[in-house]
Amino acid sequence: MGKAYLVGAGPGDPSLITIRGMEILKRAEVVIYDYLAGTKLLRHVPEDAEYIYAGKKGGVKHTHTQDEINAMLVDRVQSGKRVVRLKGGDPFIFGRGGEELEELVKAGLPFEAVPGVTSASAAATFAGVPITHRAYTSSVAFITGHEDPNKKESNIAWDKISTGVGTLVFYMGIKNLPSIAANLIKHGRDPKTPVAVVRWASRPNQRSVVGTLDTIADIVKKEGIKPPALTIVGDVVNLRETINWYENRPLFGKTIVVTRTREQASELVHLLEENGAKCTEFATISLHPPDSWDELDSALEKIDQFQWLVFTSINAIHAFFGRLYEKGRDVRALANCKVAAVGRVTDECLRSYGLVSDLLPEKFTGEGMVEALGKVGVSGANILIPRALKARQVLPEGLTRAGAAVTIVPVYQNKRPEEVDTNMRAKLANKDVDMVTFSSSSTVTNFVEMLGVKDKAELQDVMSGIQVAAIGPITAKTVEEVGLTVDVQPDTYTIPDMVDAIVADAVK
Ligand code: SAH
Repeated sequence: MGKAYLVGAGPGDPSLITIRGMEILKRAEVVIYDYLAGTKLLRHVPEDAEYIYAGKKGGVKHTHTQDEINAMLVDRVQSGKRVVRLKGGDPFIFGRGGEELEELVKAGLPFEAVPGVTSASAAATFAGVPITHRAYTSSVAFITGHEDPNKKESNIAWDKISTGVGTLVFYMGIKNLPSIAANLIKHGRDPKTPVAVVRWASRPNQRSVVGTLDTIADIVKKEGIKPPALTIVGDVVNLRETINWYENRPLFGKTIVVTRTREQASELVHLLEENGAKCTEFATISLHPPDSWDELDSALEKIDQFQWLVFTSINAIHAFFGRLYEKGRDVRALANCKVAAVGRVTDECLRSYGLVSDLLPEKFTGEGMVEALGKVGVSGANILIPRALKARQVLPEGLTRAGAAVTIVPVYQNKRPEEVDTNMRAKLANKDVDMVTFSSSSTVTNFVEMLGVKDKAELQDVMSGIQVAAIGPITAKTVEEVGLTVDVQPDTYTIPDMVDAIVADAVK
């Protein structure tokens, strides 16, 4: 038996959906979603589900009429499917959720409804305006701004709400803002009442402006604030000066390009976003298995002969263990080896496979590893280094010099993605980007190649005014070799340290 699930997606930040809503999304067979529901959440819907875009962008001709949406909903449920109707904010607040459920009742079909964080609540939270506050107001009204206040038979009691309610929140009211403000003043609200207009609340591109009832329409026009936006009217708006935490985060309003592989981007993206940045993922590297596993396989056969196993990246760790398991073996095969990790992240990654590293260098580079192993003494030792097909020679050369017998086996290879994103060059040229981050030398060289610039001068032109962050000295050197300048570089070569350095630079 099919069933419909009316789910509130929340205001735009995908993490603001409810746990129940997420559970339902993950099991969806059909998803019918609105413009405001945000496409990021769709990542959680099974790939083989049917995706139906319902449109509903204000002002633009609806992709489907409400009748068509109702009909699709009923049809899919009748054919036995679990159908998720995903709506922006809360489905019951200016979301026509009621109408859709009435249709299901009429057709005798089962349904469940899940609330969502409505955009008024998100705008309040993320613009630092508590919509109620004991010292200012004890009442709040949610009002549609879609209705022209000058129309003769209004459904809104302007005379009562203007002075009868403390905080007024208008949805869909940007176009009508001049007449809304005028109407409130006409019905007795103080023209000096503070007003905030918040666009894309909870998203990295949130924008807000503040004024008073008699100035806000001009400000919104001048600042070019477009829908979707909410208008909050009331003395509580003044609290924003004290509480505006979200827009005051150090990287708020900055667009930062992340050039790491898709698999590795998430940590950097997460940390940057937590500090308020808007991230654009531009993967300059994709990971692939080596052309052959022969070298690793034969090393594994005589793994007991190695005294040290050295890991210089988590990619190598995942690939190494993937193959070890494929061969029907596990971590016990490594019982006689000591294990070295190049840095904190590789160290933690090894723990997730049940290994505690025996050595962690002070400096998280190949040079640091040579120094650390040199101190322990590796003369005469057999050392196995599973790593990328192409990598720097510093580590094997240094260890060989220290008297070790080094075996290098490729466990993955980096490739530049085939598809080239011509948009990126335009974004950089338009200065829609504030910073580009590089976490290895190949991210730098691939990035430049993917832009398709003809020479250094053109690259410098495209990148002028855009900051560059490099994770460490090797990457920084490559940045300079391609003709760019490094603006931010951490002292310790990890992603969290790079983010700290970016934040420190932004607030300096
Ligand atoms: N059901 C939705 C509202 C749909 S009506 C909810 O509960 O939020 C559409 C209006 O909601 C838009 O015109 C705008 O006024 C408001 N809105 C929705 N998402 C918004 C957001 N992220 N930021 C600001 N306003 C938003």
